[in-house]
Amino acid sequence: MDLFEYQGKQFFATFGIPVSPGDVTTTVDGAVEVAERIGSYPVVVKAQVQVGGRGKAGGIKLANDADEVRTHASNILGMDIKGHTVERIWIEQASDIAKEYYASFTLDRSAKKHLGMLSAQGGVEIEAVAESDPDAIAKVWIDPVDGLTEAAARAWVAEAKLDPDATEGTVDILQKLYRAYVEGDADLVEINPLILTPDGRVHALDAKVTLDGNSVFRHPDYEQYEATQERDERETAAHEKGLQYVGLDGTVGIIANGAGLAMSTVDIVSQVGGQPANFLDIGGGANAEVMAGALEVINNDPKVKAIFINIFGGITKGDEVANGIVTALGRVDIGSPIVIRLDGTNAEEGRAILADHESDTFISKPTMIEAAEAVVALAGK
Ligand code: GDP
Ligand code: MN
Repeated sequence: MDLFEYQGKQFFATFGIPVSPGDVTTTVDGAVEVAERIGSYPVVVKAQVQVGGRGKAGGIKLANDADEVRTHASNILGMDIKGHTVERIWIEQASDIAKEYYASFTLDRSAKKHLGMLSAQGGVEIEAVAESDPDAIAKVWIDPVDGLTEAAARAWVAEAKLDPDATEGTVDILQKLYRAYVEGDADLVEINPLILTPDGRVHALDAKVTLDGNSVFRHPDYEQYEATQERDERETAAHEKGLQYVGLDGTVGIIANGAGLAMSTVDIVSQVGGQPANFLDIGGGANAEVMAGALEVINNDPKVKAIFINIFGGITKGDEVANGIVTALGRVDIGSPIVIRLDGTNAEEGRAILADHESDTFISKPTMIEAAEAVVALAGK
């Protein structure tokens, strides 16, 4: 679950991390009202979209009075930033900036530890720093049992070579940020920039937070975040049909029965040089109705160039699956070629049914690897 900046800041604030006073609104009048309530100019008007680089895109503006708030708010509301329409803006008291730092925690799965990253080079994308000057990022791996001690935080800040004035404030914020990350069941907490003000205070000027969606049962208040999730249209359509679907960015649409087989199908398509458009598990019963629903969802994805149906018959019988596919194709007008790999119970009978319908755009292959190669060739690499 990705949070908007304003939600991330409110989340941080509950753990005592200093953020600028502000509020969120969806209207121009609301923006002026918030600015007046903050009571001191300048304020910053910030587009709330779940994508970085808002500043460069014109989605972050300083306003010196109510009129400027009005101008910026009306320009930013409705703006398109990298395909995201701005529906909400956050107005906060502007900060004076002496230095911009970077701080984050995330999980390092291969190390089986939490990974903290801290850099004196904040304000820019951390990927760019990692590329140009990797030594400028101080990393710590934290054993979840031990946690982050104050001494460890202090040594880490020293290693990152932050300005001496920023040491105390940063040590404090890092410990609070770690607590927010662990107790809040977050997958990522990132502050970029974490700023040092000319009068020596350290605070969070931006907030990027990803919460573990499976932890909502522990945090009833996270329902407010679920309510504002930006959902993939394809995922919404698939979930309405009761399909287990995850949208990806590639050109090969995938339908498989069983989550394990669906994941293996995504893997094998990648292995032979293709790019999966989705993960889709139709579950055990590959009947005509389920198959038609799955094909419809994939057919509506404009990126899809070819479709891979990968079915292993266990309890489900191959001939029933084949009949289901053929019936489904009669119901949905499919725009892309289809490659099918059918194996398992009654595979021979099933393949015989498919053979009657084979063409240049409807191909049956006996193995996963052959089917993957065929479908990727059809999708065009
Ligand atoms: P992002 O571009 O989407 O990551 O948005 P940020 O919230 O990180 O803001 C981008 C940049 O705008 C920051 O790195 C700052 O340089 C600038 N900025 C944001 N808020 C303020 C502020 O209160 N005062 C000043 N002077 N600059 C700000
Ligand atoms: Mn930022």
